Amino acid sequence: MYINVILPLALDKTFTYLVNEEEYKFIVPGMRVVVPFGKSKHYTALVVEKHQNPPTLYEAKEILQLIDESPIVTSIQIEHWFWLASYYLCTIGEVYKAALPSGLILESETILSANEKTVETTNVSDDQYLILEALQHQTSISLAEIEKFIPKKKIVALVQDLLQKGLLQIQEEVQEVYKPKLVKYIKLSNSFSTPETLQELLATLNKAPKQKEAILHYFQLQAVEKKPISTKYFLEKAGLSDAVLKGLLEKAIFEVYYLNHERIVFEKEEGYEIQLSEAQQETFLSIREQLVSHEVCLFHGVTASGKTEIYIKLIEETINKGEQVLLLLPEIALTTQLVQRLAAYFGNQIAVFHSKYNTNERIEVWQKLLKTNSSTKIVLGVRSALFLPFTNLGLIVVDEEHEATYKQQDPAPRYHARDAAIVLAKLHQAKVVLGSATPSIESYYNAQSGKYGLVTLTKRYNDTALPEVHLIDLKDKYFRKRMDGHFSDELLSRMHETLANGEQILLFQNRRGYSPYIECMTCGHVPQCPSCDVSLTYYKYKNTLSCHYCGYSMAKPTHCHQCHSLDLSTKGFGTEQVELELKKLFPDKQIARMDQDTTRGKFAFEKLLDAFKNQEIDILIGTQMLAKGLDFEHVTLVGILNADNLLNQPYYKAYERAFQMMMQVSGRAGRKDKLGSVVIQTYNPLHNTIQQVVNGNYVAMYEEQIYERRNFKYPPFYRLVQLKLRHKEYAKLKEGSMWLYNVLSQTMKLPILGPEEPAVNRIRNEYIRTILIKIPNTSNLSATKLVLKKVLTSFEAVPQYRAIKVTIQVDY
Ligand code: ADP
Ligand code: ZN
Ligand code: ZN
Repeated sequence: MYINVILPLALDKTFTYLVNEEEYKFIVPGMRVVVPFGKSKHYTALVVEKHQNPPTLYEAKEILQLIDESPIVTSIQIEHWFWLASYYLCTIGEVYKAALPSGLILESETILSANEKTVETTNVSDDQYLILEALQHQTSISLAEIEKFIPKKKIVALVQDLLQKGLLQIQEEVQEVYKPKLVKYIKLSNSFSTPETLQELLATLNKAPKQKEAILHYFQLQAVEKKPISTKYFLEKAGLSDAVLKGLLEKAIFEVYYLNHERIVFEKEEGYEIQLSEAQQETFLSIREQLVSHEVCLFHGVTASGKTEIYIKLIEETINKGEQVLLLLPEIALTTQLVQRLAAYFGNQIAVFHSKYNTNERIEVWQKLLKTNSSTKIVLGVRSALFLPFTNLGLIVVDEEHEATYKQQDPAPRYHARDAAIVLAKLHQAKVVLGSATPSIESYYNAQSGKYGLVTLTKRYNDTALPEVHLIDLKDKYFRKRMDGHFSDELLSRMHETLANGEQILLFQNRRGYSPYIECMTCGHVPQCPSCDVSLTYYKYKNTLSCHYCGYSMAKPTHCHQCHSLDLSTKGFGTEQVELELKKLFPDKQIARMDQDTTRGKFAFEKLLDAFKNQEIDILIGTQMLAKGLDFEHVTLVGILNADNLLNQPYYKAYERAFQMMMQVSGRAGRKDKLGSVVIQTYNPLHNTIQQVVNGNYVAMYEEQIYERRNFKYPPFYRLVQLKLRHKEYAKLKEGSMWLYNVLSQTMKLPILGPEEPAVNRIRNEYIRTILIKIPNTSNLSATKLVLKKVLTSFEAVPQYRAIKVTIQVDY
């Protein structure tokens, strides 16, 4: 008897293993097994099929161990994963590996370490104790090392149990210090479990009245609560001090034990209700109606129109039917405010799944969803939440559907979460709502052509007016010397006015650091990263030059490395420079900066947002992070310091993206009853895209862009597949990419661009070339992809090109 499994490796096929009759009867697809693979490694594999046909090309090995008692992956998930692999041209193994939290797919190379915070080693088996003991002598241990002292067959189950108890942690790439939420409980020691021993005990405590009182309190609480009593609760209720409890513990009358609490408990706010405005109610009904005849409805609602409130009503209706809901968000930045709003309404029916969660937290959500009768009905998550084991999905809401972060860049699967969500919904026969104030061109096109429903809401909640946009011509301002640093006189006067009213300001500059590069004024030399083809960004606070691609960093030179001149000048400007200018211009105001450099820690972002929300910050300067649907009631002025570098990007979506960015940032201005204004500084005030922003004219932007896309063979009329080739040797890469290009052009008969050197043509010492394949909507996509795969296989077979790495981006 055989099973076919997926391995967590970049392999395209499933593999066949041998199981005995008993195992065969027990196994259901979706269960995990531990299998040997290669010379001596073992992996956690996923069963996808069982059958009685021995493999023809190799001899099937036996499985090492069966892990699950019931499937932890549903058949819909497996079907979805195979779709992802075939559509995004990656292997099923890569999808599997991305889909499961790493704690669920332990393998020989998994590295574990002890959790310093927990010392309790009760409730562990002898074998488990050996593992923990080994970790007293070394900081980390791999599964392969554990094999040396524990039978192979047992390891995965033992380790998984230790992970769940919070005694071990997996060393992940992104190392966050994991704090399991263990709650301390007390119980009366077993030696006093009989009435006689208890009587005796109380008698001996006559001289310690406080301790005696504590014990009586304990019994009272136990009689009422009939559940474990936490230390905190006990001390509160009994009104006793820590010292009393300490005494009882020392005398071994009480014992302490720990329980692992669900980390995220959401409190429903009693009496919190949402009353939709008339326009919102109308929108809600239209969306519902559109979803009768369409699987997907695009909801185009201007900023601050109250899209969230409408989502809430749609979600409520779905869970009342007993179905699950997935609310997708582009990144965790957005979750904080939204989680609060949804949690207040839905309480603990919500689970959150986010990119900063560690593996245990992810596993928790996974298991919550698998539980029948689970209270979890709504998952709020980033793109990887698509991989969770939904059993009865009724609705997926994709918020800010236009966001580029929905597309995974690296590693494979390089999927687009919005598109993958639509496919997932189809498998569940669920509905999809795509929400945005600035829909992507593709989605709007699908709505225009009738494939999706379309509902538009043009009114802000409370009839708050959309902000007025003022354009500043930088050329003119510089010429007439009306600039102070990077601020025009008009922006400054509006800032003073806003601050005088006690209101807040957001400033946008999409570069971080002090300046994007420094230049020698004598010879023109610009310091470059030694491993990448980019200039180094100057950071004034740290006095360093850093590479944004590989992280390389050096002290800022005092003189030019080329000609020794001391005359070095900074060029361009980033958020750090704006922050420093602001501190000079507004010395008595609170100024903060929000970019990748200031939001690295787990809660750094949340802290900044909280401080801004509480008006502890007057002016917040930031990168595109500011554009992300944040809702602050006291912001009445938004400034875009330089719109031009948004426009000058070498990408077919540059204008679309620039429009979205500017509209979204502008949308932060003016909420509730306050009118907002926006100041855009630019050298190109007449640029169409900028004019479209000034007029808030989405449709004009759409029409211009769709015309260009049609003319120049871009999506949604063509699908783009980008091949990125990388190699350390320039000449070899050049030759190899030319070979690939030639073969592709001969076999595919499609427009193929390249091989091209991208704007940054070397990263981490690897040269890069790209080839772009344009596949018309009218041609058979899967047939084309098959041809592409074949060509790539023959490319890999050419010995001298084997070392060239190729990555594929479908829907680039
Ligand atoms: P959007 O996501 O469309 O930009 P939000 O959902 O953030 O808009 O709503 C903007 C503001 O208006 C929020 O502060 C929100 O709480 C408030 N709001 C919107 N609709 C309602 C409503 N029906 N009742 C109360 N407040 C609302
Ligand atoms: Zn020089
Ligand atoms: Zn670099």
